[in-house]
Amino acid sequence: MRVARINAGREVTRIVDPNGRFVIIGAGPAGIAAAITAVREGLPAERITIIEKGARHDDSRVSGFGGAGANSDGKLVLESEIGGELAEHVADMPGLLEEVLELYLGFLGPEESARYEQMRGRFRDAQASEQIQRACIRAGLEYVPADIIPLGTATCRRIVDRWYDFLSERGVQVLLGTRVTAFDAADDGGWLLHCEGGEELCARWLLAAPGRSGHQFLVGALEGLGLDSVHGPIDIGVRVETDARVTEALTEATWEFKLRGLIEGERIRTFCVCPQGSVLVERYGPDLLAVNGQTRLESPTGRTNFAVLHTINLDDPCDCPNEYAQLYIRTASILGARNPIVQTWPKFERRRRSRAGDLGYAFIRPTLERALPGDIRLALNAKSCRVIEAFMRALDSDGLLEGLCSNRTLLYAPEAKLYTVRPARLSEHLESERAELFFAGDGSGLTRGLVQASASGIVAGREVARRATR
Ligand SMILES: Cc1cc2nc3c(=O)[nH]c(=O)nc-3n(C[C@H](O)[C@H](O)[C@H](O)COP(=O)(O)OP(=O)(O)OC[C@H]3O[C@@H](n4cnc5c(N)ncnc54)[C@H](O)[C@@H]3O)c2cc1C
Repeated sequence: MRVARINAGREVTRIVDPNGRFVIIGAGPAGIAAAITAVREGLPAERITIIEKGARHDDSRVSGFGGAGANSDGKLVLESEIGGELAEHVADMPGLLEEVLELYLGFLGPEESARYEQMRGRFRDAQASEQIQRACIRAGLEYVPADIIPLGTATCRRIVDRWYDFLSERGVQVLLGTRVTAFDAADDGGWLLHCEGGEELCARWLLAAPGRSGHQFLVGALEGLGLDSVHGPIDIGVRVETDARVTEALTEATWEFKLRGLIEGERIRTFCVCPQGSVLVERYGPDLLAVNGQTRLESPTGRTNFAVLHTINLDDPCDCPNEYAQLYIRTASILGARNPIVQTWPKFERRRRSRAGDLGYAFIRPTLERALPGDIRLALNAKSCRVIEAFMRALDSDGLLEGLCSNRTLLYAPEAKLYTVRPARLSEHLESERAELFFAGDGSGLTRGLVQASASGIVAGREVARRATR
């Protein structure tokens, strides 16, 4: 039901549903999983709305239908302990991982689905893991084995398109290009959402799943409701691009080698490995550009890229760790004139900025052509640079990434993961202290990847459907 009313001198359209609506903020993997689960569990589709600030296909790479997930590399990491802390909140994490797998593979044809299904365990071979672990022991590092199914960007996008068809064919309302600016408790119970264009929506159940790009929105929402929040650590560093032959032994065995170090007491790790991939730009705002990576299995590049991330826990008295990470992103963007910067390993090591000439002499060319040569040390703090340098040398060890610290390797900046604030207390159904207000995905602070973000959406969507249909 639509009601027109006057608010502060202008007409506002308020969407009210007498039966009670389930409204989801954010059409990323978490929000979509919640909607699909709610439909499958019997909540009538026409009582569900998803509000998404981006377009159906959005060039920001972090917004639009599918969220950051639609443009992701599509690596499904089927481990309870990797990609988030959801296992600390919910029961039966192994069962949830199976459901997530079905949510992705179930939207492919039977043959393709079976092909991916057969990959289970392929990258978690015990003998290979043992060998890598031994090489890590010699290098002073730690290897974390993980069961991974690499879908690749194109397949991931196809699945997201089929999710869209599933929801729209059944009558779920998907409001694209609509930014939620705030929400508060409605006078008559439930929640009232305010959208940028002046629309208001009444929700009986509200799920906030705005992902990492919704950080500012989430900070405001939690403050507005007076909910206690906690900050997670931040991850800042560089994206490394090298000859695929340098990483071949590890990517063949593991696809995504997850290696960790503790250097000067600081935690550092490899993350988001893209074998045969390319480096790309992700856009969090007009002047907030970061680098990331993707693998298009159908067009191998002969390079591998991966993030090297320094985890920093900025606790008391710092109350805005994300701003610290954003400062790094902004500084690097200033140096690159609103472009990412790239530096050859030899120049980084020698504390000299890279110039166009160095890139010409490097043994590989950057896959991200718009990255401009520069000096990462002018943007990234000295401690992170030191720790990254020592970690890179440890990676360049017998049985690991021999040949990494060479003129065959490029470093890109800024690479950062903006984890967001999260409500201090969430129930096993991911409901906050305020009744009927749920949080899921990277915006809940509990997840950092596709599988756990989707799993959290399943948990919240199922609970809402249970309450709505009882
Ligand atoms: C390039 C790239 C590659 C990646 N590769 C992988 C990978 O291979 N494997 C893996 O596990 N993870 C990967 N990730 C991470 C993964 O994509 C995220 O963890 C996942 O998408 C989180 O899902 P989400 O639903 O919580 O948030 P998101 O996917 O971020 O979606 C949130 C949505 O909410 C919308 N939104 C935010 N605020 C508002 C608002 N106020 N009003 C309306 N809408 C709003 C956003 O526009 C966005 O579409 C990758 C990420 C990127 C960027």
